[in-house]
Amino acid sequence: MQRLSAMNPSAFEIQPVENPATSQQRAAAMADLGFGRIYTEHMARVRYVDGQGWIDAKIVPYQPIQLDPAASVLHYGQAIFEGFKAYRQDDGGISTFRPEANALRFQTSARRLAMPEMPVELFVEAADLLIRQENEWVPPNVGESLYLRPLMIATEAGLGVRPAKEYLFLLFGSPSGAYFPRGIKPVSVWISTEYIRAAPGGTGHTKCAGNYAASLVAQRSAKEKGCDQVVWLDAFQRKYVEEMGGMNLFFVYTNGGKTKIVTPALTGSLLPGVTRDSILAIARDFGWEATEGTISVEDWKRDVETGALSEVFACGTAAVVTPVGEVKSKDGDFLIHGGETGPVATKVREQLLAIQHGQVADSHGWMHRVL
Ligand SMILES: *Cc1c(COP(=O)(O)O)cnc(C)c1O
Repeated sequence: MQRLSAMNPSAFEIQPVENPATSQQRAAAMADLGFGRIYTEHMARVRYVDGQGWIDAKIVPYQPIQLDPAASVLHYGQAIFEGFKAYRQDDGGISTFRPEANALRFQTSARRLAMPEMPVELFVEAADLLIRQENEWVPPNVGESLYLRPLMIATEAGLGVRPAKEYLFLLFGSPSGAYFPRGIKPVSVWISTEYIRAAPGGTGHTKCAGNYAASLVAQRSAKEKGCDQVVWLDAFQRKYVEEMGGMNLFFVYTNGGKTKIVTPALTGSLLPGVTRDSILAIARDFGWEATEGTISVEDWKRDVETGALSEVFACGTAAVVTPVGEVKSKDGDFLIHGGETGPVATKVREQLLAIQHGQVADSHGWMHRVL
């Protein structure tokens, strides 16, 4: 067993598949790209053992994993994940978008769940090596990408409730098209007052598996109300908007040709999205005012009625930017921008995609060249 130091992450052993997919097989698999439906041929795998650190770093064939039934993750839920993308560049190369930001957030998630913090360089190296191995699986068109899914679980067997001493890190890729198959068509949202996603002091700022398990019943109830997505409110007053499903929200105000975008402030119960952070910067590049603030459901409804609020859109790695066209709640329904996609959401989406595919200057140094 080889011990990896944070300074020397390049000690991955590469074990390629014996029978790689032919280009015809790959083309068939990628003919109709959805989101998260197909996986590539390899995965990165690193173990962590208390006292030994990060060991056994490998790129291996994509395969099921074996777990002891007493493995701690299956009982007490030490499980975290991330999501970011590799994009085909205009010049044929491949780059990822802000992978260090995901690595840092993975550390934040790990810390909150009493799991070991993977060094940023090791996280990024695992992704780079996997992407180079899977070069051919990165789709060619704008809006398509190789979605990367890193995760870490507690593998130590034992029923005592305490942080495990052994963990498994995996990272695999999924060639992806549009997250919402209907494309940039606006979504309808249900404002949940019955369920909450997170409370201050909890795990809302992390990508831990339990957050998503706890959100499914609310997502299902949104579907039953005829909505695509659920909007989460603050846990105490059920009054202030936090986020939408697995995406952050932006509120667009236009006044006399001036554009201002506002996103709910990071109170500790929201997920600090990399896309959210990037859009704040892009908006300022456009000369717009971009702030973090507090938005109540009451404000939302009133400002749509007065016309001060012209658009609302959600953002996240998977779906990039998705307009919100209709809002439903127990207090009634209303449309935003006539239920249509607005110019601000369109412009932000196009700019983000252009940066991610290397079509415009990367003035913030966000792109990480892989190949
Ligand atoms: C991942 C996620 C987001 C978006 O984060 P990005 O870094 O922009 O992909 C927003 N909200 C929740 C709950 C999430 O899990």
